[in-house]
Amino acid sequence: MQDWRRALSEAVAGSAAEVRLDEPMAKHTTFRIGGPADACVLVSDRPALVKVLRFCRMNGVRWWLLGRGSNVLVSDQGLRGVVINLGGKLAEVKEQTIQGFQDSRGPVPDTRIPDSSTPRILSVGGGAALDEIASFAEQHGLVGAEFLAGIPGTIGGGLHSNAGAFGRSLGDVVTSVTVVDADGNERVLVGAELRREYRQPMVEDGLVAVEVTMELSQECRMSNVERRMSADEIRKQRWAKHPKEPSAGSYFRNPRTADGGRVPAGRLIDGCGLKGKAIRGAGVSEKHANFLVNTGRAGFVDVYELAQVVKATVEQETGILLEEEVQCLPGPGEFKTQNAECGRQSSRNRTGAASGRRGEADGR
Ligand SMILES: Cc1cc2nc3c(=O)[nH]c(=O)nc-3n(C[C@H](O)[C@H](O)[C@H](O)COP(=O)(O)OP(=O)(O)OC[C@H]3O[C@@H](n4cnc5c(N)ncnc54)[C@H](O)[C@@H]3O)c2cc1C
Repeated sequence: MQDWRRALSEAVAGSAAEVRLDEPMAKHTTFRIGGPADACVLVSDRPALVKVLRFCRMNGVRWWLLGRGSNVLVSDQGLRGVVINLGGKLAEVKEQTIQGFQDSRGPVPDTRIPDSSTPRILSVGGGAALDEIASFAEQHGLVGAEFLAGIPGTIGGGLHSNAGAFGRSLGDVVTSVTVVDADGNERVLVGAELRREYRQPMVEDGLVAVEVTMELSQECRMSNVERRMSADEIRKQRWAKHPKEPSAGSYFRNPRTADGGRVPAGRLIDGCGLKGKAIRGAGVSEKHANFLVNTGRAGFVDVYELAQVVKATVEQETGILLEEEVQCLPGPGEFKTQNAECGRQSSRNRTGAASGRRGEADGR
């Protein structure tokens, strides 16, 4: 065993962290693709997370953050360093109670009686599942989180792409994000510190989102069409529209049109006759052309090369260059395919996953 891995296990012993060595990433990604990570640590509270981050910092070990792995394509060679997963207290979903406020004499309880127009705040851990947030909100009579139903990731992962569906995105409901940086320091991001653009990261890379607050309402602020759709109806629509095979959801972002709108990438791919196109175990779904699927035994290279073929064909036929929404791990230039380095991804993807690169002695 490498020295740093033994030292890691010792460093986190007794804290809310569980270390697994040589953990196959295929078990942690919805594509079911990815070789072993040197170490995978499930952290269940903030002190444990800080311990792991500080260990990595002090020992020059690279770290990666993974939620449900539903928006990533991981190399068959796996990941060198530590993969961090958030669970336990860091995946809880709660409604924030009225805490009162401070005045010069100290805390004063808030005696206002909430009415139906009072916003209600959910406080969720960075590892909380989006689908669970939608269910919790609905069960507690809150409106505005239905669109998250059936998205198979966590809110932390969702922040990385301002996840959304049915015309809404996290940027519409998230009010604050508590993050921990690579040194283990915590801060709260609010307002303009949070980006809210289509499928762009809401917080910068290298920060771990540990808590997110979302403002929902009791009164319905959605349009009539959306209002009629419950979380369950949304789930049913997804199951009907989405392929059953392993995937990472929509592979490409919907490109912008001249009039400022967006055209579905799937429509462009379909228009180029690419449905069913396959490279070994990877294929363009017949059901939804923007889903690249693992039809069985696909490896990283198969999906990666298929994505390049799709991009090249769409660009040739339409003049539009598609950008990947799915992130390749490790980053561009860090692995080779048969034909090329993974260096042709969009500039957004060049930023890589939330990962600590300090030191990068990565131990192996
Ligand atoms: C069948 C299917 C349907 C999908 N439908 C949709 C959809 O309708 N809309 C949509 O937007 N997406 C969709 N997706 C994509 C995906 O589910 C979302 O992007 C999801 O929010 C990713 O969350 P994750 O936990 O799986 O992130 P991961 O894939 O694990 O990670 C993605 C990125 O987020 C970073 N990250 C993870 N956790 C944190 C954290 N706590 N703090 C900071 N960074 C973090 C990772 O480092 C990585 O860079 C779909 C995927 C599938 C497979």
